[in-house]
Amino acid sequence: MSILEILIIPDKRLKYKSSIVEDFNSELEKTVKDMFDTLYASGNGIGLAAPQVGITKRIIVIDLKEEGKSNPITIINPKVINSSVENISNEEGCLSIPGYYANVERPKEIDVEWSDLKGNKIKKNCSGLLSICIQHEIDHLEGILFIDYLSKLKKKRALEKVKKNLKKE
Ligand code: ZN
Repeated sequence: MSILEILIIPDKRLKYKSSIVEDFNSELEKTVKDMFDTLYASGNGIGLAAPQVGITKRIIVIDLKEEGKSNPITIINPKVINSSVENISNEEGCLSIPGYYANVERPKEIDVEWSDLKGNKIKKNCSGLLSICIQHEIDHLEGILFIDYLSKLKKKRALEKVKKNLKKE
């Protein structure tokens, strides 16, 4: 079991764009396992994208732990093929922005295509928390953070809050 270091804002590596995964091999399996270990060790995280642990590859791990039940989902090379016109607003947080939460508006439903760990193609219509989480994590692959959707003032506040929290530790 390896727990990876989660990058925290304003680390500029969080702004890098991630590249496509080409090889579905044992190295990828290890990366995914380490990412799940890191996600579970975080305690409150429901999703983690590879760039958050300094790996600029299009890899996402999600476990919403709905109703206390673990349901790990590995998402490689995701692509949103359709987004609903209707939006929903939900309070989001991020392991790279510890202690800060804010409402973000996103499409309510999405159709997403991705590959699993073995390279099998998966197509799914996602709604609710899963839709929000996948959109948040795909943004990470593009170097976008949820605070990028907020006003300059709120963004500044998020950075100050994170700095303050880190000092406390
Ligand atoms: Zn995040």
